[in-house]
Amino acid sequence: MSAQPLAHQAAPAIPTNLPTPPAAIARILKVAGDATKSLGELSEICSQDPGLTVELLRVANSARYGGQPVQSVPKAVVKLGARAVRATSVTYAIRAAVSGCYTGTFDTSRFWEESLRRATASQTLAQLAGLDDPFEAFAVGLMQDLGTLMLAIQFPALGTALSSLSALPGHDRCVRERALTGVDHAAMFRGAPLASSLPENILAAITHHHHDSLDPRAPKLILVAHAADRLADVVQAGATADNIRLATEALALVGIKEDLGLIIDRLGLQTQRLGEELAIRTGMQPSMDMLLGQANLALLEITSQAEERARKLEAELEQQEAEARRLEAENRELSVLAHQDALTGVDNRRMFLRQVQGAIEKGHQLGKPISVVLLDADHFKHVNDTWGHPAGDEVLKAIAKRVQQNVGGPHRIGRLGGEEFGILLPGADDRLAQRITERVRAAIAAEPVIADGVTIPVTVSFGGVTAKPNEPIATVTGLFEQADQRLYTAKRGGRNRVCWG
Ligand code: GH3
Ligand code: MG
Ligand code: MG
Repeated sequence: MSAQPLAHQAAPAIPTNLPTPPAAIARILKVAGDATKSLGELSEICSQDPGLTVELLRVANSARYGGQPVQSVPKAVVKLGARAVRATSVTYAIRAAVSGCYTGTFDTSRFWEESLRRATASQTLAQLAGLDDPFEAFAVGLMQDLGTLMLAIQFPALGTALSSLSALPGHDRCVRERALTGVDHAAMFRGAPLASSLPENILAAITHHHHDSLDPRAPKLILVAHAADRLADVVQAGATADNIRLATEALALVGIKEDLGLIIDRLGLQTQRLGEELAIRTGMQPSMDMLLGQANLALLEITSQAEERARKLEAELEQQEAEARRLEAENRELSVLAHQDALTGVDNRRMFLRQVQGAIEKGHQLGKPISVVLLDADHFKHVNDTWGHPAGDEVLKAIAKRVQQNVGGPHRIGRLGGEEFGILLPGADDRLAQRITERVRAAIAAEPVIADGVTIPVTVSFGGVTAKPNEPIATVTGLFEQADQRLYTAKRGGRNRVCWG
């Protein structure tokens, strides 16, 4: 039993329920792996295991080998030849070692198909690489993922999850296995009872087959096992650019220059043939063209998903932009509403006061006068009473418009409340301001307002004030009080007049 601690694994799960391999397996591996042993010796060992005897006779009498039926192991061995006997006996022994173990929903037939592919790949590559005994490579290939089955035996509840990992490249598979169970299949195998019965070189090749950076001077059997794994990745995990590159690099490491596509195509045929021989169900083995087609489809799928995502993102962005534009417009509108008088469109009271404050400061800075005028519609109550409130509104609008049309120069107009307005004349001294105000007054009084078909005579009274540059800085309240007093004076003086100073 070998349950040594594993160097790079933190406390791996030690398999507890794995069966001890049949005694014959170690001897079969040893003798089958030794090309110098005679067929006689091989058949002697095989005969000692009743199960293997049955298996060898079954294979030798299968339709594939045809000819006369054989009834004894030595005859079967002669009929099958060394290669087939070795493959049959090792496969049998290994399957026997784990047969009958509960693996939950783990897909064992797919597992054996994949193991067969690795075994075939490993043997083919060993031949191409000129290894002395390609059979060793076969055994390595067959067992290199046996740890996965052992994981399933150890964790039957994870059967489905472990099965699904076979669609991942080797490295990713190990990472996921560790995440699921705390140990990957290579480490699991190394800790299992079977491992201790294996020759050192075979065990080393199985243990290292997933290494990412192998030393090119490593034993060839290890390099072959590694390359076989990368070939299997192309078949099982897809002919992606990455998997093809890794497989090609792994082949180069063993010194194989043959085309990857050709090797894969041959691998498919051989896997199928061996599957028939060993009664291991293999599905249709894909050719390189099929694999590339599938990879392209997958790529197209990914691309179209990416495009779909990009389209969605664009639509979302457009929506966000539209929303931003809407908010901006709303803000502009709000800011207008916050500064404008809704009825007349001139500044509202708050805005007008702010403008006056700004003008006072600026005038003071520049040493320029500013003038402020307050105006109030005369007998406006009478307008409302006589022609109605809506007509009164029309009159207010007309007043604001006529003020705007007749002020000229830099100015602001505000509605201070009710029928009272203000005019700010920055830079205007009292003479200029009075002249402008007089012009406005005359323009309003000159023409009645036509509202709803009725003619409404309108006059307005004005009170004005000028803050001169040589005076102490004025305040808004101070200016308004003075202007208001003069407006009152204008009213008392008979209305429709300008009162200044
Ligand atoms: P005076 O010449 O002394 O200013 O007299 P007056 O009638 O204009 O003054 P008073 O303050 O007595 O009346 C102002 C009227 O203005 C009363 C109010 O109903 C009306 N008024 C205030 N705001 C509005 C408005 O937005 N629309 C309309 N149509 N009328 C308004
Ligand atoms: Mg009033
Ligand atoms: Mg009034």
